[in-house]
Amino acid sequence: MEYYCSQSLLDYVGTLAHEPWKLAVKPFQVSPRTWYVSGQSWVGSYLIDTGDGCLLIDAGIPESLYLLVNSLCELGRKPSDIKKILISHGHFDHFGAAEALRQLTGAELWMSKIDARLLENYPEEAFLPALGSHPQTPHPDHFYSDDEAITLGDISVRTLLTPGHTPGCTSFFWNEENPVTHEVYTVAMHGGVGGNTMNNDYYAHSQALTPALRDRFLSDIPILMQIPVDIALPSHPNQIPALLQKAGTYTHERQPYHDEAVWPAFLKEREDQIRELLA
Ligand SMILES: [Zn+2]
Repeated sequence: MEYYCSQSLLDYVGTLAHEPWKLAVKPFQVSPRTWYVSGQSWVGSYLIDTGDGCLLIDAGIPESLYLLVNSLCELGRKPSDIKKILISHGHFDHFGAAEALRQLTGAELWMSKIDARLLENYPEEAFLPALGSHPQTPHPDHFYSDDEAITLGDISVRTLLTPGHTPGCTSFFWNEENPVTHEVYTVAMHGGVGGNTMNNDYYAHSQALTPALRDRFLSDIPILMQIPVDIALPSHPNQIPALLQKAGTYTHERQPYHDEAVWPAFLKEREDQIRELLA
């Protein structure tokens, strides 16, 4: 079976580090309050307008940061509109530009304590082969607590520790109201599902990750599938190809990304992929 995510990570990171314009993507809206703003097609970054400043999920790498900033400009926003930066997991393609963005915007930087430790104690497993990228060490201001939502304006993002891809990988859930229909949608982004760190080759060389994390990932899948999610966003667009395919089609009336079937199908597909690696 050919999986959505089967093309080598290394091809993309190399291109993004050296010729980021080749992966450039214009910003587009995905839900009433959220826009895809990474400016490129490899790593997702999402801007949530809370009515009192913005939250940003994931930052990409430094070499593509100008594309993210350009996305903000194209949406008529400024970097300083970002008040909180949330990192999904301790891999450089998600946090690599976060510190630069924190310095630029003065935003609070949030991540899981577990992945902050991964960075500290096993930097080689957080920075991975960066292939020409120059990711910077993030300095988090706050750590996630799954018992306490992160609130800004009228948006509250609930975090959920979803280990596997990294030990502290964190998923995000929040609600948004459609201003036209007043329907309320649950929007979610799983923090990381890549099998590149959940296979025996990786475990053979890893100091930080063990097969117990893969077991946890698999045992969490049916639990996560029970969470009703109206709009599922991928941390990498290639995990849910419809994200980019429908770019630019959003209207409050159409809701092209509203499909309750996407979240469980996405999780099932990832489960199958990991089980195939095991076989
Ligand atoms: Zn990762």
